[in-house]
Amino acid sequence: MSDIDGRAVAKQIRAEVAAAAAKLRADGTAPTLAVVVPTDDEGTAWYVRSIKKAAEKEGVDCRVEQLDAPGRDEIVAKLQELSADPDVHGVICQTPLPEGVTLAEVGGHISPLKDIDGANATNLGRLAAGLRTWAPATAAAVLELLKHEDLTLSGARAVVVGRSTVVGKPAALLLLNESATVTVCHSRTKDLAAVCREADVLVAAVGRAGMIGADFVKPGATVIDVGTNPTDDGGLVGDVDYAAVSAVAGRLTPVPGGVGPVTTALLLRHTIEAAELSKTHP
Ligand code: NAP
Repeated sequence: MSDIDGRAVAKQIRAEVAAAAAKLRADGTAPTLAVVVPTDDEGTAWYVRSIKKAAEKEGVDCRVEQLDAPGRDEIVAKLQELSADPDVHGVICQTPLPEGVTLAEVGGHISPLKDIDGANATNLGRLAAGLRTWAPATAAAVLELLKHEDLTLSGARAVVVGRSTVVGKPAALLLLNESATVTVCHSRTKDLAAVCREADVLVAAVGRAGMIGADFVKPGATVIDVGTNPTDDGGLVGDVDYAAVSAVAGRLTPVPGGVGPVTTALLLRHTIEAAELSKTHP
């Protein structure tokens, strides 16, 4: 079994981002990502700090818009303001959102041309239609990791466990667009382990520590672990039982060091693409 090294993939993407950012700056455009933070959740704050640090290291400006106990209208107003600001190229909205507010709804107020984390349902629709768009960065990271492995996705059996709008569904659409034969599983799926064992490519995006055991994995399969589950000692574990599955899988992403760093790198790549797009679609 070999580990799929997300940090190495992220490093390569970030080097490309740094070169593109320098070129944009030389042409008079400072690529800028705005992050709306409608929560005081400590995990979210840590994640936003890591995005800002990565962005600034590669020459992308990062504007953090912290909102204090906002209601839905305040969040929408901020997303609209940033969408209209010509100095901002990418806009993302962090979760958790206040009770009763969904990303699927407020995300509709991010301009599709700045929606670099695929929160606007227009972009999910474009993904479903096979049109050029930004998929949510985590889902895009799954594909990016698979592409770096030089796998043949066309005709491969892919199983995605999880059907959220931000990860499972767009990951399934991306795999389908690569002509994989895709099955999407969720909490009502019967005999989940047997369905997963059919997969050449297994994507776990559930949020349950270690639930994917060795009996879920076909020998030699490629397994992408999207799950990030905090442990009592302040660490992180995935949805895959790493020790058990590494004895069966052909390739496996570790947690941390798999999907996470590629997700951050792709947020930056998408911001660069949005900044380039702003020159022709201001
Ligand atoms: P989510 O919205 O809670 O969705 C979880 C999905 O898992 C749902 O579709 C749910 O099914 C399914 N599920 C729950 N229990 C199940 C079970 N026992 N068997 C089969 N399916 C089950 O979570 P999410 O936002 O997609 O995130 C998933 C994981 O990815 C989390 O650990 C999250 O922290 C992580 N994540 C990582 C990154 C990163 O950058 N690495 C980014 C985003 C998310 P139902 O639809 O039937 O309820």
